[in-house]
Amino acid sequence: MPESEGLSRRTLLRGTAGLGLATLGCQGLAQQSGATPPPPTAAPQGKKAGWAILGLGGYALGQIMPNFKECQRSRLVAVISGSPDKAKKVAGDYGLDAKNVYSYENLEAIKDNPDIDVVYVITPPGNHREFTVRSAQAGKHVCCEKPMAPTAKDCQAMIDACRKAGKLLQIGYRSRYEPHNIRAIEACRKGELGRLRSIVSDHGFNIPNGLWRTQRKLSGGGSMMDIGIYSLNAARYLAGEEPVEVYATIHNLPNDPRFKEVEDTVHFTLRFPSGVVANCSSGYSWAGMNRYHVIGERGTLEAEPATSYGGQRLTMRRRPVEVPPGNQFAAQMDHLSACILDGGQVLTPGEDGLQDIRIIEAIYESARIGRPVKL
Ligand code: NDP
Repeated sequence: MPESEGLSRRTLLRGTAGLGLATLGCQGLAQQSGATPPPPTAAPQGKKAGWAILGLGGYALGQIMPNFKECQRSRLVAVISGSPDKAKKVAGDYGLDAKNVYSYENLEAIKDNPDIDVVYVITPPGNHREFTVRSAQAGKHVCCEKPMAPTAKDCQAMIDACRKAGKLLQIGYRSRYEPHNIRAIEACRKGELGRLRSIVSDHGFNIPNGLWRTQRKLSGGGSMMDIGIYSLNAARYLAGEEPVEVYATIHNLPNDPRFKEVEDTVHFTLRFPSGVVANCSSGYSWAGMNRYHVIGERGTLEAEPATSYGGQRLTMRRRPVEVPPGNQFAAQMDHLSACILDGGQVLTPGEDGLQDIRIIEAIYESARIGRPVKL
């Protein structure tokens, strides 16, 4: 049953798919983390920004590259990889020009390639800083996957490098470009639930051993960095304000080789200035979990799955909310392309990524000292 929140279908369309994310006027800093993107400012134009994918792993090959065919403002033009044979094959599969295949060693050569406007860094977080800085110095805009980097210091260096080069930096927070999440943010901002009082967000899965995700140098941390960041980022964008205090506990399954270097289960509580409290969690030893709930004075909102690749379901006051479909991957890329081609601020800029990492550092600190930490 469609939602019965007093919203007409037309309003719904204006609020979600009708936002035309490819051309949205781009919001200010995500410190306005609950901001709903504004309505479109211009019709899509013919020109497309050229994207180079750096790091040909699971996410790049499985989700990002196949979705360029859905983009209106972005085209795949190059690959940058540490695996020459794979790079050659992938380039062939996508019909890329052989001259547009680069390695990590000759990355700087992209400077002379006018086909490339943006480098999309999709490697383990431990080298996001290096590849982002080098790409910006080569004169290219950067989209960098989450988590932005292992430390706030790394994140700041990435922001500084892009600013110095006069280039845009987007963090790959795809859920901000996903229609159900956009609709949930809109409901929170427009007071459809009344004043917000409480948020719950849980994300986790069962991680196999032996991946870079369980090696601290490459991952920067455990479940919190990789999947708990969805709970954290959602709490911020649903609340629409920044937390002032965090309290956290960490528990690792004893003698589990996966948790020698990184943490397993994190429970963390964020206190926001308005009085909203978010109770969030993250786990690497869990059966799959991907959800958030918002409790307001006059209504509740539930999303499950909330931040998955697809299949999102949203209810308000326990009734299903009908949301027009949209491709979050294409919308995310087209948003940055539109900012490059038409001008505008990025909805999920480096500062948004930095803010999450700052809070994650406080989460780790709180768990270590056993007390709340002020932000
Ligand atoms: P994978 O392990 O599948 O791929 C990572 C790729 O990075 C490798 O294939 C490799 O590509 C390159 N790479 C460069 N240096 C290293 C290194 N030292 N060790 C291992 N790989 C290296 O990881 P994912 O694709 O799952 O994750 C990559 C990034 O994307 C991470 O930041 C992750 O958090 C993020 N991600 C985001 C998702 C989202 O929904 N937004 C979903 C999944 C991941 P090559 O061989 O071409 O050099």
